[in-house]
Amino acid sequence: MNILAIMGPHQAYYKDEPIRELDSALQVQGFQTIYPRDAADLLALIEHNPRVCGVIFDWDEYSLDLCSEINQLNEYLPLYAFINTHSSLDVSINEMRMALWFFEYALNAAEDIAQRIRQYTDEYLDSITPPLTKALFTYVKEGKYTFCTPGHMAGTAYQKSPVGTLFYDFFGANTLKADISISVTELGSLLDHSGPHLEAEEYIARTFGAEQSYMVTNGTSTSNKIVGMYAAPAGSTVLVDRNCHKSLTHLLMMSDIIPIWLTPTRNALGILGGIAKREFTRDSIALKVAQTPRASWPVHAVITNSTYDGLLYNTQYIKETLDVPSLHFDSAWVPYTHFHPIYAGKSGMSGERIPGKVIYETQSTHKLLAAFSQASLIHIKGDYDEQTFNEAYMMHTTTSPNYPIVASIETAAAMLRGNPGRRLITRSVERALHFRREVQRLREESDSWFFDIWQPDGIDEAMCWPIQPGEEDWHGFADADADHMYLDPIKVTILTPGMSEQGEMAQEGIPAALVARYLDQRGVVVEKTGPYNLLFLFSIGIDKTKAMGLLRGLTEFKRAYDLNLRIKNMLPDLYAEDPDFYRHMRIQDLARGIHSLIRQHDLPRLMLQAFARLPEMVLTPHQMFQQQVKGNVETIELGELEGRVSANMILPYPPGVPVVMPGERITHDSRPVLDFLLMLCSIGVHYPGFETDIHGATLTEDGRYLVRVLRDDGIV
Ligand SMILES: *Cc1c(COP(=O)(O)O)cnc(C)c1O
Repeated sequence: MNILAIMGPHQAYYKDEPIRELDSALQVQGFQTIYPRDAADLLALIEHNPRVCGVIFDWDEYSLDLCSEINQLNEYLPLYAFINTHSSLDVSINEMRMALWFFEYALNAAEDIAQRIRQYTDEYLDSITPPLTKALFTYVKEGKYTFCTPGHMAGTAYQKSPVGTLFYDFFGANTLKADISISVTELGSLLDHSGPHLEAEEYIARTFGAEQSYMVTNGTSTSNKIVGMYAAPAGSTVLVDRNCHKSLTHLLMMSDIIPIWLTPTRNALGILGGIAKREFTRDSIALKVAQTPRASWPVHAVITNSTYDGLLYNTQYIKETLDVPSLHFDSAWVPYTHFHPIYAGKSGMSGERIPGKVIYETQSTHKLLAAFSQASLIHIKGDYDEQTFNEAYMMHTTTSPNYPIVASIETAAAMLRGNPGRRLITRSVERALHFRREVQRLREESDSWFFDIWQPDGIDEAMCWPIQPGEEDWHGFADADADHMYLDPIKVTILTPGMSEQGEMAQEGIPAALVARYLDQRGVVVEKTGPYNLLFLFSIGIDKTKAMGLLRGLTEFKRAYDLNLRIKNMLPDLYAEDPDFYRHMRIQDLARGIHSLIRQHDLPRLMLQAFARLPEMVLTPHQMFQQQVKGNVETIELGELEGRVSANMILPYPPGVPVVMPGERITHDSRPVLDFLLMLCSIGVHYPGFETDIHGATLTEDGRYLVRVLRDDGIV
């Protein structure tokens, strides 16, 4: 439904009557009309109701101030000013650029005016719809009949089957009609970058400040492989963030390249501080090249920006300093950085191109913007070979892309344009700031314990807070580099009692996993759970009610904890996993139990040590995978891993960072890696329902973790 806001004139009957007539004529044209009380009411209406598609007002009463205020909200919105013969019309150039139309008050003109408003509205809706999405809408509306795939034929096949109709009714007609074959020529081709698909890519590149953009329908997992496949030829050496996503490990398994690791720092809380400045220097790289068999000077580097915990790099520094011709920022978590000034200089696409270098940025459009799952983008700045790149692109792309996903990528871009887009991101930042202050306030008001937030003391202003040296009190990074890493305000890490930022374990504590379980039961899903911290993302979909729901969840946890409720009542889902074990247990018993287990194993020290010394690379991930394919692997218990070469990546959640890569051997020196893994496992052994999720290991029915390793008589 299209809504028109009408600011009714207040003074004169000769104005009232034409407006009344116009109202009826607009209804005929299919509009809903709304009469705001005053200018403030109108602005609030526009802000809260994106379906408002025009404003009708009296020029003598409101004129330019109102126009420019509306423009701040949505510069594309059509404005209709009513004038009389005496109205002054001192419209400047600026106003002429607005979508502003004038009509005279007159009787019996309503029908004609309503028709023109209909036309301008259609033009407005057309102008905000991006090219491929528009072509897809048009195609679906035309209802053409095809004899090609997909076999459901715009949904008709579903309607011939009882269960099929359930599916059809659930997803709706348009979802199925928009799922069309690549052979529909009107829509061009994703793989050839032609027609509306090409227009969409150009539109996206302009929107995100890139020179070229590619839409990818299989997630950033695929985008990362495409970039890596193009950027690093077989036999070459690449610099890889040790805190990389598993898709990059898979790239290393697929492609015969030699990784050299850039190792991130971490604090005692388990928060990744990013890769230190010194790791980017020529000396540091030269040393690692010399120590790595077959390695040569790296041709490409991959850096995760932001880190899992929401720390962004000063990317300008890395682009200028790191001596590699090709640089990839994996920005799966931050597809919004181009749209708020606080992120300037902290993203892959910010700034000018760097002579002699090509910069890539990959983003999961679906993760923090509005798009279907799998929606992802590759942005490029710098010179590259389009044809070769496209071979790498096609190598990983289905020949039957899902058009609703593609259109959702483009629409996500369209949503970020202009003032409406800026406002979306600004609102997320403000909402996160507000939430941060609320938790702070509750903490100050509480007479006993309350949750804390990982942030500096003063958070009055929206900004990315620097992790500066000398301010360890809040961030806990003893060796922080100046002007290097920054905390993104929308990534909110909540701290539970039990451990200081410096890693000192308190006498008592509340492991974060308990809070996560409690919130989960109330429908609040935590993004990541560390030993004493929980991560929440304030994406554009988080509204006030969701933020309030989280706050209420936290305060109710505290109340239930302080009352020392039974597990049976407070965490019924957990209770159900092992009623015998939890029968008489209360929440404080459980917290004390897990906390003392963590204390006993000295988790902070263990975690720091586990990452301080990397296991030894015996085979590259590619070589190891080849051995695995040939069957030269066997299965052993995790506890027996020392001295063996792991076949796969081992990655515990938390902290969500790989600790062993394929082809790596845990030596005596790197033994803490294994101790750390075993400690995580032991929590699950003692407390049912708290089993650690370890990717790369299989948990058996009887609670043992199995891993695959190179056979002892393996071909090394
Ligand atoms: C999630 C993620 C990916 C993969 O993105 P998908 O869109 O889920 O395939 C890649 N890199 C990082 C850093 C991620 O967090």
